[in-house]
Amino acid sequence: MLKDPWQRILLLMALVFAVNGLFLLIFPPTEQEPVAQIAYSRFKNELSRERIAEVTLQGEGLSGIFWEPLSLSSEDVVAAQFEGIRPYKRFRTNIPPFGDPGLIAFLEEHEVVINVEPPEKTPVWVNLLANLLPWIIIFGVWWYIFRRARQQGGMGGNILNKFSKSGARMYTHKASSKTFRDVAGLAEAKQELQEIIAYLRNPGKFERLGGKMPRGILLVGPPGTGKTLMARAVAGEAEVPFFNISASQFIELFVGVGASRVRDLFTNAKKNAPSIIFIDELDAVGRSRGTGLGGGNDEREQTLNQLLSELDGFEPHDEVVVMAATNRPDVLDTALLRPGRFDRQVVVGRPDWRDRVKILEVHTRNMPLADDVNLEIIAKGTPGMVGADLEGLANEAALIAAREDTDKVFMIHFEQAKDRQLMGMERKLFMSDQEKHITAIHEAGHTLVAVCLPNTDPIHKVTIIPHGQALGMTQQLPEDDRYHYQRSYLLARLAVSLGGRAAEKLCFGEYSTGAQNDLKQVMDLAEKMVCQWGMSEKIGPLSFSRGEEHPFLGLKLASEKSFSDKTAWLIDQEIEKLVNAGQDCAEQILSENRDVLEALADSLVEEETLDQERLEEFFKERTLTLPDKSQTES
Ligand code: ATP
Repeated sequence: MLKDPWQRILLLMALVFAVNGLFLLIFPPTEQEPVAQIAYSRFKNELSRERIAEVTLQGEGLSGIFWEPLSLSSEDVVAAQFEGIRPYKRFRTNIPPFGDPGLIAFLEEHEVVINVEPPEKTPVWVNLLANLLPWIIIFGVWWYIFRRARQQGGMGGNILNKFSKSGARMYTHKASSKTFRDVAGLAEAKQELQEIIAYLRNPGKFERLGGKMPRGILLVGPPGTGKTLMARAVAGEAEVPFFNISASQFIELFVGVGASRVRDLFTNAKKNAPSIIFIDELDAVGRSRGTGLGGGNDEREQTLNQLLSELDGFEPHDEVVVMAATNRPDVLDTALLRPGRFDRQVVVGRPDWRDRVKILEVHTRNMPLADDVNLEIIAKGTPGMVGADLEGLANEAALIAAREDTDKVFMIHFEQAKDRQLMGMERKLFMSDQEKHITAIHEAGHTLVAVCLPNTDPIHKVTIIPHGQALGMTQQLPEDDRYHYQRSYLLARLAVSLGGRAAEKLCFGEYSTGAQNDLKQVMDLAEKMVCQWGMSEKIGPLSFSRGEEHPFLGLKLASEKSFSDKTAWLIDQEIEKLVNAGQDCAEQILSENRDVLEALADSLVEEETLDQERLEEFFKERTLTLPDKSQTES
């Protein structure tokens, strides 16, 4: 058949022309005598002049014949088809709607032949067609859309069916092809999941002994730590099919679709049991109920209710394990975490450096690594990075090596990839000498404060080459993984962040817009110190949530502000105090070491980037005036 719509339109037009031609051939148009449509007054006039021979009355219409053809100009004829004067033998006129009682007598008086015909009746089929046509068109359009949707919905599918399908991707254990060998580190999580694997491999054994396996397992951890990977590996190890869906896929425009998708997912999984259902981003539907605003959340709640009832509705012989992942277990509806539902939580945390080595080993398995590559050094230099970051890093290193056309991936490629991940892509931006100088002073300010203060992370790199949105960058990297942040460390961090701005004020006498991001970070940090970590003496060990969550996402509205106006005022005072202390500290360090600040800025303008080694060399040659202890701990 013709696929191109234009071809179809052309074909249709050709058909219409052909039918029309055929019709004209069979019923050729007859040459008809012209009929003048005249005004009623004119008709009466001609009648009184004895010029009319015959009339035919039909409803409100009156037609007739003149004794002799009458020459009428186009002005005499209502809606004349022709220009100029023309003789007419026949005429037609309309009787006024209120009638003309004397007409018949008048006609008889002038001896006109009177014919009467019943009013023209519309044929039944025309009436029928007129009534049915709109319905035929509506039905035709509907049928067309329905057929198209069926075709697109696949074999045997229809549009409603398509919406209610869960959309989950099913992997057979061969297609899933992930095992614990692909998951590096995470030893405790693997340990906890061994039991589930054993159950899925041999469900009968557990049931015989009357044991009940946990149905729902919640994998909790920051993004990119390998939760999806872990769930797939469990399916791979147990050799069972794996149904993967993201909770956000349940939510559609139409109410009720989410619930039917949940039903479809569970029905499919039960059909393929033993199997694993994995719901990613569970918080997308699993947030606490009754807290949202607007209609959109009703759909979410219906979906959640359906999910809860499906979790309850398992028969003992349904060998289906439901795994879900979230990085916000705190916002989940408590009903989801009740015994019998997601009652077992497995933490998939950030890897420590030893696990990072293992993750790097997994992702460099198939790479030709040069002898100088030391994964341990890379792992130690990437604190805070998760599996997804490390996978990206290894990949980026391979891409850089390919771009440089080397036959192996060298350590330098990993270093470059790390910088790219930490600082963003380098941006080619023309900067005037003046701009470069301002950026250099700003970055030198951060660096110098960081070097002078105890309790700060070493500087990994400082640069005035624009990266991402930033014009320059001072990159600090902790020497080791940090799990605790002490007050003195955070105070130093505030001072370092404010160092750039303080340096600008010191050298140029005014601030520039370059510190926007620094100020945001400072504000966030100071607020957390006061409101969440109890680090303000005046406020003490109290915790307040202050605008850290968006109520539209389902957080309890009541908890948005859990303190009095007086406390709010005190919080503001304490935040201000912390930020001012940081600023004073930075200003003092920089003014006492102004010559070093300017020398560092000059080196930056000259070399553009200074790495850790180069910085050590720079500071070795200089004496710094360090702040006294009381100042750094206030
Ligand atoms: P999100 O919460 O954003 O969905 P996630 O925790 O589910 O993230 P995954 O999608 O499983 O993270 O991980 C992303 C990628 O990171 C995986 O494709 C995997 O290659 C890599 N990765 C993460 N953790 C590990 C690990 N422990 N071992 C090996 N690779 C890992």
